[in-house]
Amino acid sequence: MKKFKKIASLFFSIVMVCSVFTGCSKGNGDDGATTEPTTVDKASMTPEEYYNIDSWESSENVIDDNYRNYYHIFVYSFADSDGDGVGDLNGITSKLDYIEEMGFNGIWLSPIHQSTTYHKYDVVDYYSIDEEYGTMEDFEKFMEECEKRGIKVILDLVFNHTSTKHEWFKEASEYLKGLESGEEVNLEECPYVDYYHIMKSDEVTTGKYYKITGSDYSYEGQFWDQMPDLNLASSEVRKQIEKVAQFWVDKGVGGFRLDAAKEFYTGQTEKNIEVLSWFTDYCKSLDEDLYLVAEVWDSFSTISKYYTSGITSIFDYAYGDSSGHIIRAIQSAGDGKTGKSLASTFVKTQDAYLNSNPNMINAPFLSNHDCGRIAGFSSGKQERIKMAGALNAFMSGSSFTYYGEELGMSGSGKDENKRAPMYWSDFGQMDGVCAGPSAMDEVKQKFGSLETQKQDKYSIYWYYRNIYHIKNMFPEIARGKVAVMDAIEDGNVCAISKTYNDETIYILFNINKEATTVKVPTDKYSYEGLVASLAIDENEVSMEGDTVTLPAYGIAVIK
Ligand code: CA
Repeated sequence: MKKFKKIASLFFSIVMVCSVFTGCSKGNGDDGATTEPTTVDKASMTPEEYYNIDSWESSENVIDDNYRNYYHIFVYSFADSDGDGVGDLNGITSKLDYIEEMGFNGIWLSPIHQSTTYHKYDVVDYYSIDEEYGTMEDFEKFMEECEKRGIKVILDLVFNHTSTKHEWFKEASEYLKGLESGEEVNLEECPYVDYYHIMKSDEVTTGKYYKITGSDYSYEGQFWDQMPDLNLASSEVRKQIEKVAQFWVDKGVGGFRLDAAKEFYTGQTEKNIEVLSWFTDYCKSLDEDLYLVAEVWDSFSTISKYYTSGITSIFDYAYGDSSGHIIRAIQSAGDGKTGKSLASTFVKTQDAYLNSNPNMINAPFLSNHDCGRIAGFSSGKQERIKMAGALNAFMSGSSFTYYGEELGMSGSGKDENKRAPMYWSDFGQMDGVCAGPSAMDEVKQKFGSLETQKQDKYSIYWYYRNIYHIKNMFPEIARGKVAVMDAIEDGNVCAISKTYNDETIYILFNINKEATTVKVPTDKYSYEGLVASLAIDENEVSMEGDTVTLPAYGIAVIK
């Protein structure tokens, strides 16, 4: 999946972006001295004209490495191809042009293996595709289409537990039920008993153990009694997991998202780190470029510890979700200090993670299938949703975007509501709109469907497209080492530099509903000028000399 593009010259980028984002359009009506001077009527421009998207591809510089823009798809609710209301693989394949156009070059699929639930985190068979989602052929077709577009696919690999319907668990429980009272387990007769955390019911002292009816034994189920926890100390279990990983890597997947890493051994961080090390080493032995990202739903200091495992990425819960740094900064917008303090936090967390693993690639996200939707954390305010989206995408690392975030979708409360159908259009089924999980409440959407938002140049959709276009223009944004721009005085402005391959880019986020003007002193910072910008409405970012004008929630990219 090589997709290198020639690095556009800085000069070209500046001219291009200048004409797109800062309104210094050139060439209109320039066909002779007698022509009336023409003013550009921006209000009547289509979004495509306004953003000059014909020039986008040639100005992007997408590098084929593990710093990617991941799109997180909850398969059940994304796109339905056959009218049964359930999202499926063919549905996703039909939306790949959309995903590519948005600027995403990675996809994380929620679990697709055979399972008993709509979310499919209880795996019955790791080697098959759940029939609600399609067939292995559909999967192969999907992979082929992703490969063509340079999109890396990572699968959700759930090996903290299986389903109680998994063959291993069925074998183990049948065996235990067949034992005479007082008869000891013989692992040679049934090795599967050792695949799970099983103990005699009268010896259970902790919660989360469930009795195997008709036997003297109980099993651990951290999340649900239908999801027995695997015994990851067993070398047999590890061999089985390695086989599963190899099987999917042979199918072309580019890596895995590792579910529930904190529960491998609940409460035992060191042991969990060892599991991550083992699996990382195994995957790297298959292919050095495989990408692994773990779910460690915890604080910054715990995540730092888990990075000592050597795993490439861990979701950055310090920044995501309703109490993460990004939302907290936006909620205190305009207090005179939140911008500066966020900039320092970026450096502090980066340094700690790098100290644990110098090769780590951070994995920032705003929301996922377990968190409420970002629209809720942002009080439904469009400008906050936009700023949060940009802050997340412009963090160093491989950023993750939960499907529908680019439309400002809503969904909170019970889990099913957080997994509401992707809002393709108001026409419903004909555009692949899914029915959503059956236990879902009616989820009201505040912002329009994709079809509607496409028509509005200031929609959240167009803002997101611009975010990822800019990110794809400048490799420093994802790959750069972050530093605080101390000389920027306005405390509402989060001002950071990012350095990658000896190139430095400067980004200024005005986390404030008031416009501001800041000086970027040339004796401290070396740059040519404004190369890209983002604004929440028609008020544009501009720069004259060393002075940048940032409208409310405006963002300037300077190089
Ligand atoms: Ca379907």
